[in-house]
Amino acid sequence: MVKINSNFSKLNASLKQVGAELNFRYHFNNNRSDIALTRSKFNSDGTLSKIKNLKIDYLAGLSFYQNNFVAIYFQNLKADKINTFHFSECNDLLINLEKNESNTTLILPDSEKADLKKKDTNKLLSPCHLCLENTNWNNFEKAEDWSKRIIIEQFNILEFHKQMFSVERELVSNFISSDFLKTLPKNFPRILETAKSYKKWTCQKCKINVSGMKQLYHAVILDRTLKRYLPNDFLGLCTGCLKVKYHDMYITPEELDFINEFRPKSKK
Ligand SMILES: [Zn+2]
Ligand SMILES: [Zn+2]
Repeated sequence: MVKINSNFSKLNASLKQVGAELNFRYHFNNNRSDIALTRSKFNSDGTLSKIKNLKIDYLAGLSFYQNNFVAIYFQNLKADKINTFHFSECNDLLINLEKNESNTTLILPDSEKADLKKKDTNKLLSPCHLCLENTNWNNFEKAEDWSKRIIIEQFNILEFHKQMFSVERELVSNFISSDFLKTLPKNFPRILETAKSYKKWTCQKCKINVSGMKQLYHAVILDRTLKRYLPNDFLGLCTGCLKVKYHDMYITPEELDFINEFRPKSKK
């Protein structure tokens, strides 16, 4: 049985007291309160702007702010009010950051603001072409031009984040270091997604299928020295199984409920 702490609701309540109406779906241990503090800096719509000494980390092809996966856009640059958001280390982002740091806005991918399923939001935010190319999301590099346009329309930063969330969870839980994540190629999101799809989002240990809650799936690199990332160089595990071996891995009560409900009973 996986043991969890129950500080989550307490933390959520105190965040609400300071006016941060965050959709706070992740569970953090006390010693990770720096992550909770970072998230509490964000506005109620999940954005953060006018940050001094903004330091973005580029890990495994994705952009992070203080260990939180973030998308980035620049305000008031275009008259048509459509903002291109970035989620990878692309040249446009780097140039913009240098020139317009004061206009930089960060968005949490699990915030309402970033929910591209909402039509009104969709008109305001559009994913960056270069970021899609960098990460080779959904095999973007090989897609024909007509289908690239479809991919952009279908791109949903929240769904993307759920597929990539294992990187953030492993980072925050100190299962994997930011120094190692920096060594991974920019198209690592595509590599990771391919490995997870290949294993059909099914835990190789307990056989649970987590397609319904994709953030619970980890593709663990078996040998970090190999620099080879074929599907079989990964071990597909659910967060529950990973936590049994690695106790510091955090998991929310909601996620634990999912595991308890859907984990096959005959195999433990
Ligand atoms: Zn970009
Ligand atoms: Zn499992």
